[in-house]
Amino acid sequence: MPSPKPRLLVVGFGMAAGRLLQEIAQLAPGQFDITVIGEESQSAYNRILLSPLLAGESDTSLLPLQSADWYRSQGIKVLTGDPVLELDVEARLARTASGSSHSWDMLVLATGSRAARLPLPGRDLDGIISLRTLNDANDVMARMDDARQPARNAVVVGGGVLGLEAACALQSRGVSTSVVHNAGWPMNRQLDSEAGEFLASTLAARGIRFISDAQCERFVANQDGQRVAALQMGDGELLPCDLVIMAVGIAPEVSLARESGMAVSRAIAVDGWLRSSTPGVFALGECCEIEGEQFGLVAPIYQQAQVLAAVLQRHAESGLNASLTDIAPYTRQALPTRLKVSGVHVFSAGDLDDLSSLASGASASKRTLAWRDKERGEYRRLWWQGECLQAAVMFGDVDDSGIYESLIERRVPVTASAQALLNPAGLALS
Ligand SMILES: Cc1cc2nc3c(=O)[nH]c(=O)nc-3n(C[C@H](O)[C@H](O)[C@H](O)COP(=O)(O)OP(=O)(O)OC[C@H]3O[C@@H](n4cnc5c(N)ncnc54)[C@H](O)[C@@H]3O)c2cc1C
Repeated sequence: MPSPKPRLLVVGFGMAAGRLLQEIAQLAPGQFDITVIGEESQSAYNRILLSPLLAGESDTSLLPLQSADWYRSQGIKVLTGDPVLELDVEARLARTASGSSHSWDMLVLATGSRAARLPLPGRDLDGIISLRTLNDANDVMARMDDARQPARNAVVVGGGVLGLEAACALQSRGVSTSVVHNAGWPMNRQLDSEAGEFLASTLAARGIRFISDAQCERFVANQDGQRVAALQMGDGELLPCDLVIMAVGIAPEVSLARESGMAVSRAIAVDGWLRSSTPGVFALGECCEIEGEQFGLVAPIYQQAQVLAAVLQRHAESGLNASLTDIAPYTRQALPTRLKVSGVHVFSAGDLDDLSSLASGASASKRTLAWRDKERGEYRRLWWQGECLQAAVMFGDVDDSGIYESLIERRVPVTASAQALLNPAGLALS
């Protein structure tokens, strides 16, 4: 009798899990008995497309990562709309909300994140929504399209990438939108203040009011006390709204891991091979952290999926004590940021953590160079340390972004003149 296949249970069915299943299908087809369990009612879909969906620039047919036929053809058992509520790591058993139990030889946690919410008075009023899931996006669209009482005034809390994408989408659909942000300029974690000014002007030209250094006080209810009617600011100003999008960050979903006694810091602690502190249990995606690094973009998560597929295959073949030293672990990447808003081109790459000291040239070894054309709405600034480009920010024309991204990533010395650096298309990138 052939020995039974190892049972692989994947909990959470978002982008990380979807990608992991694809990697396993390529690397080790038919080697596992796989079950994947998701809380959302859909199989894994492309969450990134929720912003374009809201803007009317994508449709739901483009969302699924794989078809139902693909899962069937791979022999993968799919359970959706049924969250796992409990793990018994001794018995290696997961129990779902519907009461079904699933055992594993290897368990992967891919439970992602929840949208964070500001703990303001009135936060539970109807009309206050976070944009994290397809259900959230459908809820927002239904409120905009409501024939009786369509949403007309929106406030987006948070002027980071997701908040700005949502604000532009709402405004483009005829909802008068304001953004309140607790820093001095939009996308302040990715942009310097000057790029932020260009971006704020573009938002204003689209009719979006951007309120910087904002303090939110409380949400005010309408007459029947159920629905949001305004956001009151710290200075007393009332921003009337019938829709609020909360875009103030994410919190890793770690409850199952924590309750099961796994090492959890801000997220589930795993090593470069995605191993948690519990043997046979792995985690990847936004629910995990590796040496303190957390994740909010898909590029590193896709790298993790590739590593984990190789790790799981090794364990399937040689047991949980098998050596992994010949499998390259996950390595940190410098990730560029782009805004997905039609007609607004923003790019940022490199280590911009300490923008203020970089911009002021606080350190002798750090230099900065900028070029701007206010009339054309174009701006770029570069920072480098020693001879290596360290960071780049672009607004307007971002055609050269790939060149800067490559120079930053490869950390090669750049000795070209300032002019050539700001117009790098002709640079030899050996
Ligand atoms: C609107 C929006 C736009 C984005 N745009 C970009 C972009 O342009 N570029 C980019 O790189 N990234 C973008 N992201 C981020 C990207 O989508 C995430 O980094 C990625 O989805 C994380 O994948 P994940 O699988 O870790 O988490 P998720 O995709 O969130 O999947 C986790 C899944 O686990 C489920 N789950 C949680 N607990 C349980 C449980 N107990 N039982 C069963 N299931 C459970 C959740 O319901 C969810 O379906 C965007 C995100 C959003 C919301």
